[in-house]
Amino acid sequence: MTDSGIGGEDASAGWIAVAGLGPGDDALVTPEVTAALAEATDVVGYIPYVARVKPRPGLVLHASDNRVELDRAALALELAAQGHRVVVVSSGDPGVFAMASALFEALEAGRPAWRELDIRVLPGITAMLAAAARAGAPLGHDFCAINLSDNLKPWSVIEKRIRLAAEADFAMAFYNPRSRARPQGFVRVLEVLRQTCGEDRPILFARSVSTEEESLQIVSLGQSHAEMADMRTMVIVGSSTTRVIERAGRAILYTPRSLPKDAA
Ligand code: SAH
Repeated sequence: MTDSGIGGEDASAGWIAVAGLGPGDDALVTPEVTAALAEATDVVGYIPYVARVKPRPGLVLHASDNRVELDRAALALELAAQGHRVVVVSSGDPGVFAMASALFEALEAGRPAWRELDIRVLPGITAMLAAAARAGAPLGHDFCAINLSDNLKPWSVIEKRIRLAAEADFAMAFYNPRSRARPQGFVRVLEVLRQTCGEDRPILFARSVSTEEESLQIVSLGQSHAEMADMRTMVIVGSSTTRVIERAGRAILYTPRSLPKDAA
């Protein structure tokens, strides 16, 4: 990476780093991401994520609204093609329901010249892992992650995946559990989970992990209700072996590393 070429004089100096900012706490931003931000000329991303980047002279912040990921990706690619050093920011990890795939969708459909660009994906701590660590180790055996937003896939697919994951006895991590636009979806998810996993299965609601508003609740599926989640909540449902260790203060939720010997 060189220092020249801003504004189109040396297009070959441009690059893109698609970076994960972690779940919220600055201590959970990797040094690699901090270094990329320190070298950047431009930061591109959804408004609340760009707001987490400290402004400095020479750094242009391009904050855009939700649901315009492809336009945002095209802007980043075009800026880099003109020689800018661009960091595209996501929360958590950029490869988990976030901007890295959007960038490659735009790249695949876009100008051939974009394929020459220096593009790197810088991982971050995804919400699922931050939430799991706070609660103990609920993802300590096999698990899957499912995005509950039906913006980009039909609801029938979400329900099918939950049923099959429950049948396969995975622990399940749910992103985007509930929004004002689709309040009934998560009600249905809890119904399906109770049918497939039973009332006693533990479920974790981890809200705003690693921020000042952090709150954690571990209950059984029978005790759970949809209002326990919002769009800032990570929901993790245990597998059949996931257990709660009760103790003074906060209980520990964990999944042992092995299945019982007689498990089919
Ligand atoms: N790329 C992000 C996920 C984007 S989807 C990542 O890797 O974490 C947005 C969803 O992530 C939210 O609806 C919520 O379910 C979850 N999420 C993001 N940050 C969170 C946090 N600090 N605490 C709990 N859940 C969070």
